[in-house]
Amino acid sequence: MMNRIIFISNRLPITVKTGENGFEYHESIGGLATGLKNYHQQSGSIWIGWMGLADDEITPEDSKLIHQQLKDEYKCLPVFISKQEIDEYYYGFCNNTIWPLFHYFTDKSENDMLTWQSYQQVNQKFFAVLETIIEENDIIWIHDYQLMLLPQLIKEKYPQTQVGFFLHIPFPSFEIFRLLVWREEILLGLLGADLIGFHTYEYVRHFLSSVRRLLGLEHNFNKIDYEGRSILVDAFPMGIDYDYFTQDYTEYVGHEIAEIAFQLDSKIVLSVDRLDYTKGIRERIKAFGVFLEQYPEYHEKIRFYLIVAPSREEADSYIELLKEIQELISKINGKYGTLNWMPIWFFFRSFSQEHLIYFYRHADVMLVTPLRDGMNLVAKEYIASRTDYQGMLIISETAGAASELSEALIVNVHNLDAIAEAIKNALEMPPDEKKARNQMMHKRLQRYNVKFWAREFLSTLKAIVADSNQSILAKDLERDSNRIEHAYRYSQKRVLFLDYDGTLVGFKSIPDQAKPDQELLKLLSDLANDPKNTVVIVSGRDKYILEEWFGDLDLHILASHGLWLRHPQEKEWIMTTALDNDWKESVRPILALYTDRTPGSFIEEKDYSMAWHYRKCEPDMLAVKLGEIRENLMGLTRSTTLGLQEGNKVLEVKDSRVNKGYVSSLFIQHSDFDFVLGTGDDYTDEDLFLSLPPGSFSIKIGINSTNAKYQLRSWQSMRRLLNKLVNISKINQVQ
Ligand code: UDP
Repeated sequence: MMNRIIFISNRLPITVKTGENGFEYHESIGGLATGLKNYHQQSGSIWIGWMGLADDEITPEDSKLIHQQLKDEYKCLPVFISKQEIDEYYYGFCNNTIWPLFHYFTDKSENDMLTWQSYQQVNQKFFAVLETIIEENDIIWIHDYQLMLLPQLIKEKYPQTQVGFFLHIPFPSFEIFRLLVWREEILLGLLGADLIGFHTYEYVRHFLSSVRRLLGLEHNFNKIDYEGRSILVDAFPMGIDYDYFTQDYTEYVGHEIAEIAFQLDSKIVLSVDRLDYTKGIRERIKAFGVFLEQYPEYHEKIRFYLIVAPSREEADSYIELLKEIQELISKINGKYGTLNWMPIWFFFRSFSQEHLIYFYRHADVMLVTPLRDGMNLVAKEYIASRTDYQGMLIISETAGAASELSEALIVNVHNLDAIAEAIKNALEMPPDEKKARNQMMHKRLQRYNVKFWAREFLSTLKAIVADSNQSILAKDLERDSNRIEHAYRYSQKRVLFLDYDGTLVGFKSIPDQAKPDQELLKLLSDLANDPKNTVVIVSGRDKYILEEWFGDLDLHILASHGLWLRHPQEKEWIMTTALDNDWKESVRPILALYTDRTPGSFIEEKDYSMAWHYRKCEPDMLAVKLGEIRENLMGLTRSTTLGLQEGNKVLEVKDSRVNKGYVSSLFIQHSDFDFVLGTGDDYTDEDLFLSLPPGSFSIKIGINSTNAKYQLRSWQSMRRLLNKLVNISKINQVQ
């Protein structure tokens, strides 16, 4: 059976406007709509988004009508957003916080609690609309920075869905991203997806680095293991509708434009952008001024058509920008213009794409010099439109498209002399060279077109989900929990070894956040209340914190990986293994030396071990330091009972006689349990799994390979299982 596809983006591919005779439905322009059109036309797919009118501009009857029409005729499901939400969520958080920050305009980025709350609310609103139609195996593809919290909302409630996310703007370097007040929330929101796509590999690196530095989650071949899922992060550079841009629209565009563009004795330089401070329009005008200054032989022989499409006009900063652009143009036209010649022709209006293509085809040089741009489709459209291969693109290295268009002339947008020189080089480049360069780029644009892009993304999404299902399938307990439930129901004396971090709760390094929640405490107390149960918490944490958290419950606690045991009745800690700790004297100075030299690291001294924590260290520096420290410690621990154990951002030297397996088997020896359950999520729990007697149930939380008999995806699945067991206990007790 084919899975249904649901697209979600801030704007629908259909825009609704109020016309004289009621509502008008227009196709929204842009690469996204074109790219996904084929998929959307395929039966069953649905598109969720905002349709362009504020909720309070229409009556409830109108919204019903629009809803119906969009659904029946366009397979679109509208999300209704109020005027206030548009102000706060869209103009506020999206355009005044995320947009500037992700484009490296840190001083324009505001951190405003009110707009952040609105952003959360509107993401919830999109989720609520999705919930009206969601089905278990849907493929959901979410687009762009307006909806970064949505993947998590979906995954938490509907873990079986396949969720993809694509960011159409840059993902900034960690140093920039960290400035956002709600940075962790945004990362966690995105990690709800199974596949996260960016335009370029640089953005992928920036994202992975932020996830690693802010959440402490490592990646391996671009995959992040998180909450029992494997999340792939990769680059999918968006293409254009190549065939459309290679056609000739001269007939269609009419005389008006034809005359402007056709000046046979003039060379044409062109640029096309929305009005935005990220586009580098001011720098471009200045660079053209430098060109005129330095190469007077071109005076009266060149025109610069500067097309700027109005956008977000109501914002003050955009009005200011427009003013500055106009002033710069007048200055240059005033300085160099003659009776017969105006150097810069400024169009502050938008053109249809057919008109643009006409401009593209007549431009000798295309200037695409944004200060930052996620991709920049105009650059690709220009190349495709020049089917004679005779134009030349100048593109700044800070446009995403530059990484694919390496045969163009690539410039640093701040180096005005270099741009001026590139204009001259482009104008004077021999036709053969232009042809050779453009042909290479054509080939790539033709192959990696927008349909290819969409297909690639969706097939990768399907593959990654199939892959992670596969890797856990053989041992997946969720699909086969009857056996354990049956065994539990008919047993008389049970022991349940429950690991804490990562098994009963998500792993949190901050103690305050790692505390057990009320729901968990109730679950554990219900389990312990069944007289047939012995419930044992087995943790690497120290006895003080575990006593604080679980001391009041009727539980056995094994602390420090089993070194200490506390009975619920006696309420005293006993040591399970007699230890001699003299070795610490020789290990301590080595750890201290590395701690001094590695900012962010610290030593934790436990009863039976010494741990070197490096969670807060600069990851790249660590790669070197870790190798050294390992080698040093290994030399020291050889031929002793000491072992070196590597955990989650911690290196631990410990007495290897203390391990979860050894103590749990001591526990089991003295009783005749007929139901044994061992659970855990990391390497220390493997000792436990190996030591359990035949017939026991061992469950690993997570998808990596394990000695356990069964696997569950996440601590949430573990809690679901324990809840089932509690229900069986309750029913048994009633009977
Ligand atoms: N565009 C248009 N008419 C205009 C100006 C631009 O149709 O007057 C189109 C252009 O063809 C391109 C898109 O708008 O497809 C702009 O995309 P790009 O990635 O270059 O920049 P963005 O506006 O998304 O930042």
